[in-house]
This record gives sequence, C-alpha cells and structure tokens, in this order.
Amino acid sequence: MELTGKAVSQGIVLGKVLRYTPFVPQLNTAPLSPDDVPGALSAYETALARTRDELDTLEARVAKDDPDKAKIMAAHRDILEDPAMDEEIRQLISEELISPDAAAAQVYDTYAAVLEKSRNAMMRERASDLKDVKGRFLRCWAGVPERSLSSLPGPSIIVADDLYPSDTVSLDRENVLGIVTQVGGATSHTAIIARSYEIPAVLGVPGAMDALRDGQEIVLDAVEGKLLTDPTPAEVSAYTSKADRFAQQRAETRQFLDAEPTTRDGSRLEVRLNVAAAADAELAGAGYADGCGLFRTEFLYLNGDHLPNEEEQYQAYTKVLKAFDDKPVILRTMDIGGDKQLPLLELEKESNPFLGIRGLRLSLARMELFRTQLRAALRASVHGRLQIMFPMVGGLEDIRKAKAVLAQEGAALEEMGIPWDRDIQVGVMIEVPSIALIADLVVDEVDFASVGTNDLTQYLCAADRMNQAVKSYYQEYHPAVFRALGYLAKAFSAAGKSVSVCGELGGDPLAIPVLAGLGIHKLSMGLASIPGAKRVIRNLDMAEAKALAAQVQTMKTDEEIRACLTDFSQRHETDRRN
Ligand code: PEP
Ligand code: MG
Repeated sequence: MELTGKAVSQGIVLGKVLRYTPFVPQLNTAPLSPDDVPGALSAYETALARTRDELDTLEARVAKDDPDKAKIMAAHRDILEDPAMDEEIRQLISEELISPDAAAAQVYDTYAAVLEKSRNAMMRERASDLKDVKGRFLRCWAGVPERSLSSLPGPSIIVADDLYPSDTVSLDRENVLGIVTQVGGATSHTAIIARSYEIPAVLGVPGAMDALRDGQEIVLDAVEGKLLTDPTPAEVSAYTSKADRFAQQRAETRQFLDAEPTTRDGSRLEVRLNVAAAADAELAGAGYADGCGLFRTEFLYLNGDHLPNEEEQYQAYTKVLKAFDDKPVILRTMDIGGDKQLPLLELEKESNPFLGIRGLRLSLARMELFRTQLRAALRASVHGRLQIMFPMVGGLEDIRKAKAVLAQEGAALEEMGIPWDRDIQVGVMIEVPSIALIADLVVDEVDFASVGTNDLTQYLCAADRMNQAVKSYYQEYHPAVFRALGYLAKAFSAAGKSVSVCGELGGDPLAIPVLAGLGIHKLSMGLASIPGAKRVIRNLDMAEAKALAAQVQTMKTDEEIRACLTDFSQRHETDRRN
C-alpha cells in the first residue's frame, strides 16, 4: 500500500512503525453508589501507588544525568502525597460519591487555580507541577503506560495524528528514523523541528494512524512525499539505491555549508540561522551563519513540565548569544497560540486559534510572562549582540505597548544596578497583512523587520497552514506574497532600515533569487537549508535576480510563478555544471 503526503524534511528511510497517541483522560462522571465506596477507595490507593512507583523509577533513572529533573520528580511525589489534598479526594469519594479519577481531577484543579492567582511567581509555577501530577495520576488510574518520544524502545518511524511541540523538542533523536503525521504542512512546528534535526518527515497523510500497524515495516520517502508499506525485496533495493543517491547529493550540497554567500558579481548577502530548540546540534550551525535571524523562544515554554522562570530563560538566552559570539541574535518573544498551544497556560479554547490570542497578543494579555521574558532577555544582552523582535503584530498600538513594557523593564533593571545593553535594536515580524500594508508607518517605530512568510502566506491566502483541506489554497508563491515582499523591501530601504525573511521561503532555493532581486539581502533559515541556500546565492547574478523579480511581479498565479522559478533554477543548475 502507498500513502502520500507532503515531504517537509527530506530523506529516505526504511524502518518500523511506532504509532504515537498522547494520553487524553476521560473522566468518569457517573456517581458511585454507596456500596461502591470501599472498592473505589482501594482503586484510588492502587492508582496512587502506581503513580508513586512511576515517579520513583523516573527519579532513579534521571538522578545521575539530570539531577534537576530528579528533584522535580521528588517534588511531584510530595505533591502526590500531600495530606490535605489526599484527604479532600477521599472525602469526595466517600461523601460526595464522586469517582476517584474525577475527585482527584477536581481537587488538583482547585488547588492549581488558587496557586495560579498567586502574586508570587514561584507559587504560580507550582500550579503547573500540580497539573503535571494530575495528568500522571489520571494516566496511571487508566492503567495506560507512559508514552514519550524522548525515550523510544528502538529505531522507529513515528506515526501520529499530530505532534505537540513538547513531543518534538524532546525527541529521542538517536531512535527517530522518520516522522509521519496526519495533519500539518511544510510550515508547521513539527516540520520546522524535523528539518532542524534533519529527520525525514512526511506530514499531512490522512488516515495514516488507521492504515499502519505498530512494528510494520515501511519505506518513508520524504523526497517525494510517499510511504510504502511492507516493501518487497525488490522495492527495498530500489529505495536503498535512491536513498544512496539522495545522501550523495546532500553530501555534495553540504560542501557549501562553509561557503561565503556572495553572488557571482560580488554582492554579499547574509545567511542567518533560525534556532528553535537551542540544542547543541543546532547551535553548532552558528559558525556557518551571519547571526541568528530568528530564535523561536516559545520552544522553551513548550518543552517541559513547567514554565521557564527568569533564571532558566536567562541561561538559555545567554547560551545562544554566546554561541553566536559577536554576531547578531534576533530573539523573538514567545509566539504561543495558533498551532503552538501550551497546555500549561490553560488558555481559553478558541475556535480560530490562528486568529486569536497569539504571539504578542498573548504576551500583552499575560503581562507577567512577558515581563519575565523581557527581563531575562535584557539581562542576557550583555553576553552578545541581542535584538528583540515581536511576533503577530497587527498594528502600531501593539508595537508601542510592547516597546513601553521593554523600556519599563530596562529602567527597572537600571534601578537595581543590573547591566544590560542599551543599543538593543527592536523589530517586528511581518506576518499579518495589516502590518505589511502600513510598512511605511512601521519603519518609524522599529529598527528592523523580518517577514514571517509562513504566517503571512496563511493570512494573505486565508488558508490555515495546518489544515490539509485547504492546502491547495495555501500558496507559497501566490503573487500577493511577492507583491507584499516587494512593497516591504521598498518601504524599509527608503527608510534606510533592513527587512529580512525568516519564514521557510527565506531558505527555499527556488525563492531565494527573487528575494535577492527584490532587495531582500538578509535571509534566515534552519541549519539544513543553509548549504542549499549558499549554493544558490553563489551561482546567482544580481542583474539576473532583479530581472527575475521584475518578471515575477507581473505574474498572475502561484502555478505560473512556480513554473518560472523552477525553470530559472534548472537553467542555473545547468550553467553551473557547464
Ligand atoms: C513565520 O510565520 O514565517 C515564522 C517564521 O514564524 P513561525 O513559523 O514560528 O510562526
Ligand atoms: Mg509566524
């Protein structure tokens, strides 16, 4: 059987399926009969013991390599054994006849809600610990073993409906051979992480969970966007040769990793690195880039069982700034919401999360989180060349509010005698059409801008970047995208300020010549895209790039532009070989 989807991170692998479904508790809401109470109490105790055993085992396992995590496990055991909560749960079971799982959920939620309202940041963080313990208890109650992608039983191709950022950030990279999901497209967070770890991934494969069995052998062709089940020996051998050819091409392109991104006629473009997980493997790319064009800080929040406190953020930002030495690092404040949901924040469920409280909107609504992040960033700024950028900005009001908060936090640090870099540049992401259309006004408010083409495309085309049903409407090469880019480049260059592209288009070998031709000379991309981008740039002539950009600006459809860019790329490939 052959299934198809979108190849979002290239590679070809053969391996066994591991279907992954995160646990979602189903609470038992039916009341107990009085006769059931003794049995319910004893079932409660069994689940408690199981949860305690799990925490003990985890603590023992991580104690040596990760003592901080071991401490968290111990703290979670204390929560589980908290006498007041235990007493209340037992009372709900015996007096209110509530089933133990629902009783535990109710008590944990009540305590977490109180902690969340606390003025003390430490207490608020305890609320997320409580939710974590609640989740563990409810899973143990249901008798479901812990499933985590951070430690897999062996090399596997993960098949899931969707993956949360917390799943992808903590992936067991040794053992994840490939990723297949039913939802998600090229610009989803899963795709971004898969590319940055160079894990072959095919997303948007409807029905994959039902069609595939655990342990089933499949070929994942994440070049063509296909997967083939139970391949015959002949198919295996054909795919093995294809995989070898792919590996050879990749090795050839990789030679450009270290090259200067200078065009044939001597224009020096900038190739910057997008950083997601701030993992060592990713930061190792710093040496091949002209800085970090996008540090997606939300992954710090999404990866883990508690919200990162100021100190943890300060450490993470310092690590990234130091990795880039004296090169600029654009720290994007947390972009949570949309496809990057954060269960720890317990946000209101929105029917249109991509049009909801997302990015800077969320930061301004949860001021304490925003202030903590800005303080951590400002404190870290003395360790490198920090720039701060706000995501999901729709109007000047939000830019002004965000800048005012930043100034207040700077002044507060100053009062405390804590040093920070006064020359920090402040910029915005251009993702929302309303801000793109007033670029001439935006230039007066910011030092720079970076175009998030992933979102800009989604909002221009009104096509959810995660929704397979509208994938033909999400057009990366829609003429509106290039018109917007042309307009932005003009407005920013007229003001003597820079505009870069940090969405996936910035690392797309087909699009790079047009971007350069439009006057966008700063491109930011994941590590895996850098060699291919440099290869294209070194083969480019600026006069040709400008002519191509002018031609694209006259084109009418995504299809027409794609064909034109493919043709341009093929002609230049041939030139290079001659
Ligand atoms: C974008 O929207 O292009 C972007 C870079 O941000 P993200 O993909 O993280 O939403
Ligand atoms: Mg975005």
